[in-house]
Amino acid sequence: MLKIENLHAAVEGKTILKGLNLTVNAGEVHAIMGPNGAGKSTLANVIAGHDNYEVTDGAIYYEGNDIIEMAPENRARNGIFLAFQYPVEIPGLNNTYFLRAALNEKKKFLGEPEVDAADFLVIAREKMKLVEMKKELLRRPVNSGFSGGEKKRNEIFQMAVLEPKLAVLDETDSGLDIDALRIVSKGVNALKRPDNATIVVTHYQRLLDYIVPDFVHVLYDGKIIHSGGKELALELEEKGYDWLINK
Ligand code: ADP
Ligand code: MG
Repeated sequence: MLKIENLHAAVEGKTILKGLNLTVNAGEVHAIMGPNGAGKSTLANVIAGHDNYEVTDGAIYYEGNDIIEMAPENRARNGIFLAFQYPVEIPGLNNTYFLRAALNEKKKFLGEPEVDAADFLVIAREKMKLVEMKKELLRRPVNSGFSGGEKKRNEIFQMAVLEPKLAVLDETDSGLDIDALRIVSKGVNALKRPDNATIVVTHYQRLLDYIVPDFVHVLYDGKIIHSGGKELALELEEKGYDWLINK
């Protein structure tokens, strides 16, 4: 599904990713861990196609095609989804309207009939249950005045509605209390299918008690320096990153 080769990327002229390799197959959950400033969010944003980031070398293959030149909206239509570490507030844009427009863009692309407002409400209600989101948040502007936890739930709600093939969750656990963490994880797990894949960026082992990864990678200084199974997360919790960095 995703094959990243020797990826180099810069932001504001500063090289952040320095030769990153990663392969993700359908059906897999990958966790990416690593200290602050390692380049985790940069990787997430580069996969989604954020135009602040310049890819200076390497390739990102998604379903066999190099997507580096592909516009972010086309990546999204093709099934890539990013849950932001810091979801943006969009005052004046109604949450329901926004998400229905996004869903219909995908449907148009896939040649499926668009959903009208009434049908969308049925879908939205069902998906909101998954993340136990308050109904009133649908009527409000996107993330506007939402609490940290509400924003993160809204990200997972968007994911539930858009049903991506490749979801990248950038620290969706940060700022969540333990109940919210469990609910968000339940949502992520419920959406897991043999034909989709998830990359979970996290600082904390805690999330991985709920979302069990098939692989754990350590990102440091723009490269993946170590990979392992789910037990690696526990080892990192206990030993930190120094033993890998100084190897
Ligand atoms: P992580 O998510 O692993 O904490 P990031 O990918 O957010 O790391 O950041 C990696 C490095 O890139 C950091 O040193 C950060 O300061 C820098 N960086 C990220 N975004 C920008 C930006 N817009 N301008 C300048 N530097 C940036
Ligand atoms: Mg980050």
